[in-house]
Amino acid sequence: MNSILRCVGMTAVVLAYSLVATVANAQDDFAFWPNANYDPAIPTVDDVLGYSPGERITWHRDAIRYFEALVDAAPGRIPMTRYAESWEGRELIYVVVTSAENMARIEEIKAGMQRLADPRETTRAEAQDIIATQPAVTWLSYGVHGNEISSTEASMLTAYHLLASRGDARVADIMRDTVVVIDPMQNPDGRDRFVHHFEMSEGIVPDGDRISAEHDEPWPGGRTNHYLFDLNRDWFILTQPETRGRIKALLEWYPVAYVDAHEMGSDGTYYFAPEAIPYNPHLAADQRSSLTLFGQNNARWFDTFGIDYFTREVYDAFYPGYGASWPSYFGSIAMTYEQASARGLLFRQYDGNDLSYRYTVRNHFITSLGTAETVAVNRKKFLDDFYDYQVSAIDEGESDDIRSYILPTQADQPAANKLAGLLVQQGVEVGRASESFKACGETYAPGSYVINTSQPAKRLIRTLMDADVPLEDDFLAEQERRRAKNLPDEIYDVTAWSMPLMMNVRAVACNRTISGSFTNAGPEIVQPGAVTGGGGSVAYLVPWGTATAARFLSNALQQGLSVKSTDNAFTHMGTRYPSGTLILDVADNAENLSSVLAGLAATTGANIVAVDNSWVTDGPNFGSGRVVRFNTPKVAIAWDSPTSSYVAGNTRFVLERQFDLPITPIRTRRLASSDLSQYQVLILPETGRDQDYASVLGEQGTANLKDWVAKGGVLIGIGTANRYLADPNIDLLSIRRENAVNESDAEESASSGADGDDEPLEATVEGSYVTDEAQYRNLVAAEKDTPDPVAGVLVNADVDPDHWLGAGVAPTLKVLVRGTDIYTPMRIDKGVNVARFRGADELLASGYLWEENRKQLAYKPFVVVQKNGKGYVIGFTQDPNVRAYLDGLNVIFMNAIFRGAAHARPVR
Ligand SMILES: [Zn+2]
Repeated sequence: MNSILRCVGMTAVVLAYSLVATVANAQDDFAFWPNANYDPAIPTVDDVLGYSPGERITWHRDAIRYFEALVDAAPGRIPMTRYAESWEGRELIYVVVTSAENMARIEEIKAGMQRLADPRETTRAEAQDIIATQPAVTWLSYGVHGNEISSTEASMLTAYHLLASRGDARVADIMRDTVVVIDPMQNPDGRDRFVHHFEMSEGIVPDGDRISAEHDEPWPGGRTNHYLFDLNRDWFILTQPETRGRIKALLEWYPVAYVDAHEMGSDGTYYFAPEAIPYNPHLAADQRSSLTLFGQNNARWFDTFGIDYFTREVYDAFYPGYGASWPSYFGSIAMTYEQASARGLLFRQYDGNDLSYRYTVRNHFITSLGTAETVAVNRKKFLDDFYDYQVSAIDEGESDDIRSYILPTQADQPAANKLAGLLVQQGVEVGRASESFKACGETYAPGSYVINTSQPAKRLIRTLMDADVPLEDDFLAEQERRRAKNLPDEIYDVTAWSMPLMMNVRAVACNRTISGSFTNAGPEIVQPGAVTGGGGSVAYLVPWGTATAARFLSNALQQGLSVKSTDNAFTHMGTRYPSGTLILDVADNAENLSSVLAGLAATTGANIVAVDNSWVTDGPNFGSGRVVRFNTPKVAIAWDSPTSSYVAGNTRFVLERQFDLPITPIRTRRLASSDLSQYQVLILPETGRDQDYASVLGEQGTANLKDWVAKGGVLIGIGTANRYLADPNIDLLSIRRENAVNESDAEESASSGADGDDEPLEATVEGSYVTDEAQYRNLVAAEKDTPDPVAGVLVNADVDPDHWLGAGVAPTLKVLVRGTDIYTPMRIDKGVNVARFRGADELLASGYLWEENRKQLAYKPFVVVQKNGKGYVIGFTQDPNVRAYLDGLNVIFMNAIFRGAAHARPVR
């Protein structure tokens, strides 16, 4: 049935859309599945929503309404599960579709997959018995990026087609041999943001012009969730509720195939597996070879329908935080599919083709069915492979060089606890020692965690815990070749993500399996703290240096407690307290202090020591001039252009959701003229691509910020925001951004002498002989270039413990370096380099870094602070809150917020 017929009886407005779309695009005149015979008792999308798939962009509530209609029309045949709720309160669901016979034993099927997932409980003979009658689970996920719209419509069509088809042998095979799980919308907040923008912008006909407002999403766009996270990077760090719910559901079902249906740029065609190199070396060989089975079946259907596609060129799965990679580490075959986006109802591509929404919907629908078909056809192979994956994981865990990881008890124990909890949430078995034990030449205290790799999750453990996951040599050689020619590299995302490094947790790799007295660690990421020590007649102390202490500080200040802090370490009753330790004097606080603190210890995880005298034997006394009193800082963050929405949103998330501190986002253009005097701290997040603060703020805005800082404000620049602060015309920071080192310049500058600016321009230049390749390279090199961009590596930075910004901070931090920006160190008469990168030989902690960048980053600043009047300007040259997964940088960032505000001297 073509789209014109479908529209009969609908409103004139919708009819007009379809007519235009159909006339403009003959390609659009198709049935979603030719000659299908559907059960009329199953409602179509049109029946429920009043339009056919692809005619409108479906809101979250309407997609849910459609799936509820399917549930109602086919009782017991398509059960729906709510697996999470978004920040904005929208429900995330999945439905399960399979034959009536399978549905009658669906719990047994689920249990069967769980048994296949653990060969320690299930012998090969038992596994074969299960596999003989076990359908394989296919998991289809849609719309993780909210502005990648077509997949949700495709999810409705897929569910309908599977449920309503009659007499279709292919559907019958799918229903018999697989259980299809459909997750129609992984990011409802982002999607509704997109739909809202689109509907606000559209007129009486869809406009294909790429520059029309309906295709031009205003900041922050619909890709991300409420806190502007890319949910397709969050899979192993689990900061967002959407991800946590999905991981939990996947570990109940263990699908053998997982598809994440995306959209890409609007001028492409369609992408499906096999994926691009580099592959993560921890994947199993058959996981890679099976990708081709899916690709070939999708290709067969695309050939039938005459649809263009490509494979292998982009979209690798090296980073484990994608939907197309994380499920691989429990043995699934995980893939991304990418449809060129109409980013609306109609898009005119550069070659003149009109890409209609309906067309994009159909393509995802076809590959959805093609994927389920591939699983059905290969049911036994995929189940065998899934079981074998677990067997080989355990075998490798017993024979590899690394057979266990130990997280010893450590100064930042809350970080170790959180890491253990995050691993458990992902299906890793973690033991917690109830007695001390010896392993690999060291004795470990009770409370240490042990992760033996001889378990099904071995490959996940290795990819998340190893200090480094190497890229393939061929791939690297090709990137170096490209770089030499000034071609962009093909590294898709960060090359370093080791969780112990990012969280600054000490983890010891050991070459043997550890046995001893262990209890299973649970999934909690915060362990309740406690009040210990004496009676608390004089004061309470909270040792600084952990995220839990910082969360305590934020909450204590908001509850009106009086909190002060030293900037130096001290000794009290024989115990050494780190610099930055919080002091709560009983005399300064209300009578119920002890009960308030007991509550805060439990909720924040902070450990509190009650003391009955103030006598300090070494270091400053509680009343010393080196003790500052905290205020409850009002914190604002620049919002909207020119900021990077990721960095603005993720920073806000860290402060609001990890440290319970409400902050005020202010649209950047407002900063130019607004009275900021009520704020103590203002954060300027990294800028978006090709954007800058100077042009948005203007001279008036810069003057306003300078005035506010001089009067006592704390201005914090993150990442590329420092280009603005360090611009010589702005000069809020006296550091300067560096060009790439030009080694030929360095040699020549001595001999060539200074070029006079006043010389007349010549029509010709001196001739020269070029005698080798290196000389040629110098001649064609860009005259003034930035360092080559870095996709993302972890590097070491050393902290100055003498400055309050470094109080309680670990001596060495792991910083994720990305992009091109390198700054000169701060001169000591201007300010302090509180954290600086290590020397070139000790710089790199994990990942692949260009040689020139490694040499140039050495000794350059990560965190600088400069006093300015009564206030401070603090620069973080790299983002400490990326994806909210650099927990190891929490303390220094919280110092910037809370200690910055405490040390500034505004007139109060
Ligand atoms: Zn996407």
